[in-house]
Amino acid sequence: MATMIIEGDRTKAASGKSYEVRNPATGEVVDEVPAGGPADVDKAAQAAAKAFGSWSKLPANQRREILHKAAQHMLSKVEEIAPILTKEQGKTLLESRLEARRFGENIGWFADLADKIHGQYVRLPDLTTYGLVVRKPIGVCGAIVPWNFPLTLAANKVAPAIAAGNTVVLKPASTTPLATLACIEALIDGGLPEGVVNVVLGQATGEAIVGHPLIRKIALTGSTPTGKRVMAKASETLKKVTLELGGSDPCIVLDDADLEGAARAISVGRFFNCGQQCLSTKRLYVQEGAYDALMEKLVARAAKLKPGNGLDKDSRMGPMHTETQRAEVEAQVKEAVDRGAKVVYGGGRPKGSEYEHGWFIEPTIIENVPEGARMWTEEVFGPALPVRRIKDLDEGLRLANDTQYGLGSSIWTANMAAAHRAVQELEAGYTWVNSIVIAHDELPFGGTKQSGFGKEHGVEAFMQYTEEKSVVYGGV
Ligand code: NAD
Repeated sequence: MATMIIEGDRTKAASGKSYEVRNPATGEVVDEVPAGGPADVDKAAQAAAKAFGSWSKLPANQRREILHKAAQHMLSKVEEIAPILTKEQGKTLLESRLEARRFGENIGWFADLADKIHGQYVRLPDLTTYGLVVRKPIGVCGAIVPWNFPLTLAANKVAPAIAAGNTVVLKPASTTPLATLACIEALIDGGLPEGVVNVVLGQATGEAIVGHPLIRKIALTGSTPTGKRVMAKASETLKKVTLELGGSDPCIVLDDADLEGAARAISVGRFFNCGQQCLSTKRLYVQEGAYDALMEKLVARAAKLKPGNGLDKDSRMGPMHTETQRAEVEAQVKEAVDRGAKVVYGGGRPKGSEYEHGWFIEPTIIENVPEGARMWTEEVFGPALPVRRIKDLDEGLRLANDTQYGLGSSIWTANMAAAHRAVQELEAGYTWVNSIVIAHDELPFGGTKQSGFGKEHGVEAFMQYTEEKSVVYGGV
């Protein structure tokens, strides 16, 4: 049975309760896990507060070296960790390897910033005084993570937090705790002091983290309704919050675009991780002159994505993570079809005995989806893509912005003026121009509108794990 990681202890839940983690491809039990609650969160927060005393006072270059060593050790375990992630989440081994590697690389990327925290010297009117603005770590930070990218999204929070000198109480999604535990164990084995990152497990721990008085900042990745609940609860203790929430990213393809490049990017953008991505191509708007050729290329690519158990080397797309999640996507597709949309590819479940016990679904492309259909207005968190013809960029931009979300967006065109206009007008935290939808370590990532606020990645994310303090030196 797996255990939580709280300071030096590998513990069961205070309540003694546990639950099973199941493989979405087979329904088999992968492991049993403690069902933690408020008492466990309290213990973890106390441990993190204690560790903050020494971790935040370490010389920054020592913190950098410890983190690099720990990250290297974790990276040496990628081949052990990847199958654990595949078994609990469902994604293919290739996707799990990439994700596990990203975890270690992210720790390393932020480790390099640990000793680059700068402040300011400020002249004051009275010349016998001067001012400084110094940056300090915040304290204990809560990190709450969903199930679609358990490792990437944990690292996005843990890496900048601990590099800046904070300590962490980390809560993975209840259905994907195991690879996260393995990554944190590997960091500790590689030299990360106990108590700097504590892992609590179980559904009930999320709300307890948000409410805990010792925890000073919350970083949540999750759905928009969860974000609203977390923000309301965090207001009771006035915690800082970073909210990375849902999205419904538009992609506009104009007649003059590189259609091969666009098809590849859209296919990866919509079908990677079985479509369970926040940043993703979720609504496609194609100018009339490019429409038929692009659709042909997209269908050819979708046809190559053989669904299957992620552990099988021939699988190109794992199952969806849960039965509920699959039912939701199927209902969104059905509603569009009932209202007159046409399925161009997929639209159902793959057939065969190997698919009987898992949450498999076909990659799906749909056209003629009427305005106002759920696929346009809601987040589609699975591998189903609605496509619509547009006359011109004006129409594309109008439709692209007609959403409550504002996470990512893309445009494919050879016309730099059109690209520039899209960059200016697309209401999103990120715009890719003729480029595949990948979040880069170097660039701040985060949403606008109801996709949330605050940044992960980049120097900006690191700075958000520090707070400024003004100092006046007198008598000089
Ligand atoms: P979810 O909102 O149900 O859960 C996310 C995490 O929050 C889980 O660990 C959950 O246990 C916890 N949680 C739920 N209610 C809580 C509460 N009241 N207080 C504290 N914690 C609580 O999301 P999910 O279904 O696990 O993930 C899918 C969603 O996440 C999608 O909407 C997707 O777009 C979004 N997402 C966003 C990003 C991004 O960076 N913007 C990235 C990945 C996923």
